Amino acid sequence: MYENIGRSLGTDYFRIADQLTREELGYLRRTREFVDDEVLPVINGYWERAEFPWPLVEKLAKLEIVGDGIEGYGCPPMSPIATGLVHMELNRGDGSLGTFVGVQAGLAMQSIALLGSAEQKQRWLPGMARLEKLGAFALTEPLHGSDSVALETSARRDGGDWVLGGAKKWIGNGTIADVIVVWARDIADGRVKGFLVEKGTPGYDAKRIDGKGSLRAVWQAEITLSDVRVPEHSRLPGANSFKDTGRVLAGTRNAVAWAALGHATAAYEAAVAYCRQRRQFGKPLVSFQIVQDKLVKMLAEVCSMQLYCLRLGRLIEEGRLTDTIAAIAKMNNTRKARQVSFEARDLLGGNGILLDFHVMRHMADISRRFTPTKAPKPSRLSSWAGTSPVPARSRDGRTIRFVDADGVRVRTSVRDSGPPLLLITGLGASLDLGAPFERELAARGMQVVSFDAPGIGQSSPYRWPQRMPGIARTVERMLDALGYDRIDVLGVSLGGVIAQQFAHQAPYRVRRLISVPNGFSMMTCDPGARPAAPSMVTVGSKAAGGTAR
Ligand SMILES: Cc1cc2nc3c(=O)[nH]c(=O)nc-3n(C[C@H](O)[C@H](O)[C@H](O)COP(=O)(O)OP(=O)(O)OC[C@H]3O[C@@H](n4cnc5c(N)ncnc54)[C@H](O)[C@@H]3O)c2cc1C
Repeated sequence: MYENIGRSLGTDYFRIADQLTREELGYLRRTREFVDDEVLPVINGYWERAEFPWPLVEKLAKLEIVGDGIEGYGCPPMSPIATGLVHMELNRGDGSLGTFVGVQAGLAMQSIALLGSAEQKQRWLPGMARLEKLGAFALTEPLHGSDSVALETSARRDGGDWVLGGAKKWIGNGTIADVIVVWARDIADGRVKGFLVEKGTPGYDAKRIDGKGSLRAVWQAEITLSDVRVPEHSRLPGANSFKDTGRVLAGTRNAVAWAALGHATAAYEAAVAYCRQRRQFGKPLVSFQIVQDKLVKMLAEVCSMQLYCLRLGRLIEEGRLTDTIAAIAKMNNTRKARQVSFEARDLLGGNGILLDFHVMRHMADISRRFTPTKAPKPSRLSSWAGTSPVPARSRDGRTIRFVDADGVRVRTSVRDSGPPLLLITGLGASLDLGAPFERELAARGMQVVSFDAPGIGQSSPYRWPQRMPGIARTVERMLDALGYDRIDVLGVSLGGVIAQQFAHQAPYRVRRLISVPNGFSMMTCDPGARPAAPSMVTVGSKAAGGTAR
């Protein structure tokens, strides 16, 4: 009775197509035809049965659209806009298919392309671009989602191998992938590293998560890693801390913004097609002004999302995209897509909840796009850019580095290796003053990180006075710049209070906290307060009026 609901109407009021190159138009056309001719006729059945659409993946492989702009290694040459157009169209067809390609190209392939060795890239990327090899990206854990910077999966070096242990959750393609990028914390230095775990590796156990009400035609897994042995040559050499994981995640925001546009376009176009055909009170729905008002508001949102996306693509091309811009585009488009799909479902009346009309599937799928991601905050990412690239090693085994932390140039010192310990001294003490104590700690196998507080020693001063939260934030940015995700913290004297404030503001980054405040400082500590970190110990605050040494 109703015809062509779901097929592309080519909505483009602001002439976006005029801005595209021939190549970009080619990617758009190929993906659009694939969606209209191959995906839409069958996808509702897969979604309802919660079945992965293998035949569609085989057809997708022939289109040569998987690779998200990775250069070389058999990946199709795609500009950022071509990449976006592909994600837009795939998600206009179906969010599960879009998510599958997002994991394959945006997460798994990009991890290898950005952080892998030449051998790893050669081994995996060509087959992954042809979808002969499938990839997964295992970061989220049962206990760490938004705060996956605090992930607990462990990596232990054992001769020429690494031994991985822990659990992961929500891992797309986790049950079917040939290679899984597993993020784990090196127990020796506390840093997050990436490992390529191959299908069939003993100790890797993945179970499909069933019962989802969204993205039903793509599978996620709950994974257990029990003494999974990975050779050193399968470690990603470019992944040395969580900030490297963050680089991969940051790159996905472009695709998510375009994907949300795809969902919104699908919902809007289905609503227009339906309202033209559905008659009530003797006239098509589209002839009623209230319906027109709703449709035109939806259209305006779709147009604004298109303009966001086009600009996003151009800024990436020019190398001028910032994390803040990418995050705004992603937030705007996912939010708008949810509103548009909700309005569309409403306009379809009772039919709006039937899968045949496509809108309900998009509405359910876009709600997943609202799941928060774990990329570090933009302000944190931007602070990394200011790190001085060349560390200087001093005579007594310290590596001195100047880092840009929250607008302050901070002199830092890292001594030796071992589990990292951040030493925060009293505000008046430069890191040179604590050197004998540091040497003592280093002799006990600790990697001691210390710094000159702003305005002390060789660190620049604040431009305006800061309260304790501001100082603790500087400490956090400094650790970002140095690449420490989690660290033991020892605060002495007024440093004890700063350490406590830091643990309060960023509890997931403090592995253990020892606060040794003295005199006046201890009055600002609350020994009765709930510990900010799981194993916080406060020493000294009970030392009556005295100084803890
Ligand atoms: C379909 C699907 C596919 C996925 N695919 C993958 C994958 O391939 N690989 C992978 O590693 N992960 C994957 N994930 C995991 C996804 O990245 C996480 O769901 C996401 O990071 C959020 O974590 P969480 O679900 O544990 O929510 P939580 O972190 O528990 O958050 C729950 C709620 O609390 C809010 N919240 C959390 N912290 C704060 C805060 N500080 N302030 C205010 N509010 C806060 C959140 O916004 C959210 O509303 C997938 C998830 C889904 C649902």
